Amino acid sequence: MPFTLRGDDVCQPTPPTPIPNPYWVAFSASAAKLIDLELGAVGLPKDPDWLELLAGNQLNVGELTFSSPISTAYSGHQFGSWAGQLGDGRAILLGDMNQLELQLKGAGKTHYSRMGDGRAVLRSSIREFLCSEAMHALGIPTSRALSVVGSKQRVIREKLETAAVCSRIAPSFIRVGHFEHFASLQNIVRLKDLADLLMSEFYPKCLNKNDPYLSLFKEISARNAKLVAQWQSVGFCHGVLNSDNISVLGLTIDYGPFGFLDHFEIDHICNHSDHGGRYAYHRQPQIMHWNMACLASAMLPLLELKYSPEESQAHLRSALEEFPVTYAKEWQQAFRSKLGLQLEIESDIELIERLLQAMHDSKVDFTTFFRQLSNIQKDSRPTDITQRDEFLDRENIDQWFTDYIHRLQKEVLGDEARKGMMNQVNPKYILRNHLAQSAIEKAQQDDFSEVARLQLILSKPFDEQEIFGDYAKPPPVDMQRIEVSCSS
Ligand code: AMP
Ligand code: MG
Repeated sequence: MPFTLRGDDVCQPTPPTPIPNPYWVAFSASAAKLIDLELGAVGLPKDPDWLELLAGNQLNVGELTFSSPISTAYSGHQFGSWAGQLGDGRAILLGDMNQLELQLKGAGKTHYSRMGDGRAVLRSSIREFLCSEAMHALGIPTSRALSVVGSKQRVIREKLETAAVCSRIAPSFIRVGHFEHFASLQNIVRLKDLADLLMSEFYPKCLNKNDPYLSLFKEISARNAKLVAQWQSVGFCHGVLNSDNISVLGLTIDYGPFGFLDHFEIDHICNHSDHGGRYAYHRQPQIMHWNMACLASAMLPLLELKYSPEESQAHLRSALEEFPVTYAKEWQQAFRSKLGLQLEIESDIELIERLLQAMHDSKVDFTTFFRQLSNIQKDSRPTDITQRDEFLDRENIDQWFTDYIHRLQKEVLGDEARKGMMNQVNPKYILRNHLAQSAIEKAQQDDFSEVARLQLILSKPFDEQEIFGDYAKPPPVDMQRIEVSCSS
């Protein structure tokens, strides 16, 4: 058995609650490979008992039995304030396969459900499924989604909806909130157990360092700095960057009211319930840094096992200062690649920032703009570049294109080779809100074909896939402002 939280101060036995007459809504053959799940001809599990298992209706399939499903306790900061104990209110860890944890989300009440019903609705389950698999295909660290199983069981949200269970897979679902949990209980022994287990399973190199806990903190922080840089580079907004939604493995987890940018708007807020814009696109890096400060303060007692309180604080403070440095490096690297720049020239940063400002001012579609940028050649003339028509201030963008072309001329790579490279980092297809919405609306009428189609297209986001060209387009005007709330 690999790493799993143990002890009744952090987890409770939690059998899933069955749902009536489950059916497949979506399934990922690619995620199934991770756990060596045998599939039949139609790309679904060969053994039909898997449907019952992933619905939470039984705990065994063939020889396989999940004998001790659990839910875990974590605590955390929500929207900047200490929220106390939270926990897996609707996620149940069935167990592990191939060193990976298999979780059911929406499989009924747990010890930590508080006032909630432990269920998830069809729409949010489809969104989590599609986005997990899309992020993976974009090369961004994420929990994976194996399936969505639907049922006609009703659940009450703002209106009556139907329930679904999404199954997800990750090496571990441990969060910053798990550290905060033991820290808030001032249980240093258990805090240490948690850090020790995390190192032995996932960060073995830290064990050999002079200061293993400090080194663990730095590694977690660096992974999350890199993660946010990757989000920014594809225009992904998480929506609820509370400390209980931050993975200590640097994975994107807990997909809720997330959104990809359509037109570039630096302060875009994807979560309709985020009135103050705490989790707006441009704030994600600083908010992740803030979450790392929460982790640092939770880990402080571990450093105090070796150092004085003052020394411990000083060590963690300077480790925290590495976050913006790592983030800036990763962000610059990511955006240089988006522009097809291999050489590192200092003025590149200004060039990138000028472009983003112009895109913001003219509300230019983020994904299509970068995708088409690869058509520019070293001998292109700014006034011939059709993309200039998307900008209100032509003079400004012509100057930018002029500077960009000059900059390209310094590169060794030829136009074709650069185009190939750029098209490997600038996706053509992302999970736009309006696409998810239309797949959901069909699914609510029991037609799951659009979910499958989107899943297929988004599994190859960098490929041209000409026949699906319409899926690359920005949303029609009437679908530009779909609001996504926390309710799920
Ligand atoms: P989230 O915003 O989805 O990360 O959820 C925040 C917290 O609320 C987590 O502790 C969840 O487990 C819990 N939660 C959300 N929805 C429900 C629900 N329907 N039933 C029980 N707990 C829930
Ligand atoms: Mg959560």
